[in-house]
Amino acid sequence: MSAREAFSEAEQLSIIQAIKEAEKDTSGEIRVHLDKTCSGDPYKKAIKVFENLNMHKTAQHNGVLFYLSIEDHKLAIIGDKGINEKVPADFWNIILTDMIQLFKQGKMAEGLVDGIAKAGRQLSAFFPYHKDDHDELSNDISFDSK
Ligand code: CA
Ligand code: CA
Repeated sequence: MSAREAFSEAEQLSIIQAIKEAEKDTSGEIRVHLDKTCSGDPYKKAIKVFENLNMHKTAQHNGVLFYLSIEDHKLAIIGDKGINEKVPADFWNIILTDMIQLFKQGKMAEGLVDGIAKAGRQLSAFFPYHKDDHDELSNDISFDSK
């Protein structure tokens, strides 16, 4: 099974929709990457994926990546330097805790949707939406990095 097959079509759409909704409140750009497995530290892997997806190239350096490996249940949320300069160090921890809670109930897609929505709300305080905002990074889910 590939990471792509871990979620139904409807679940994938709900995740993409959550990103679209979240980005209506904030200029921050949210992406989701799913791997089947992650052999090492999910944060290190997330940083690599972040670069591969060119997520460090947003104007305000406010890209956010949700990284999840399906089979070994590793999760990381990382934000670009523009976010890290503004927010408290534990900014992502509450979101992570809530997501893990849902994952433990087998609610993977719901966990991601919930985390994305919360990230959007939290980011809106630091990076409000501007009417001339454009979609700098694709809202599509990224799958299976090498
Ligand atoms: Ca945007
Ligand atoms: Ca986007």
